[in-house]
Amino acid sequence: MTTNDKKQAPRRFKSVASQELKERKLQLVKALPPMNHILRGSLITRHVKCGKPTCHCATGVGHASLYLSSFYHGKTQMDYVPAAWEQWVRTGLENYEVAQDILSELTELNLELLRRRENE
Ligand SMILES: [Zn+2]
Repeated sequence: MTTNDKKQAPRRFKSVASQELKERKLQLVKALPPMNHILRGSLITRHVKCGKPTCHCATGVGHASLYLSSFYHGKTQMDYVPAAWEQWVRTGLENYEVAQDILSELTELNLELLRRRENE
């Protein structure tokens, strides 16, 4: 799925055979990432001063720390991401993006099938 797909006309499935749409649905369901490993938000790097007066950061740039920024219940949340958790977080964010794209296409396929009155 590329960003181009999202910019196509809303009724992009109109000329596609129903059988093909149903096959695409099966493919998409199989391509879903592990739903128990999804995370929403974005990673940001902050430069934090540790506070030790003799540390190089006292006069220069602070230590780079990774944070997960996310938005829940009307508030931005900032969570420190330890180095050992970075890959887990990155994978969770990727899985979320992929799942979103898949859900979006699946619902669009189902909408087209609704219009054709073909639910099976
Ligand atoms: Zn320091």
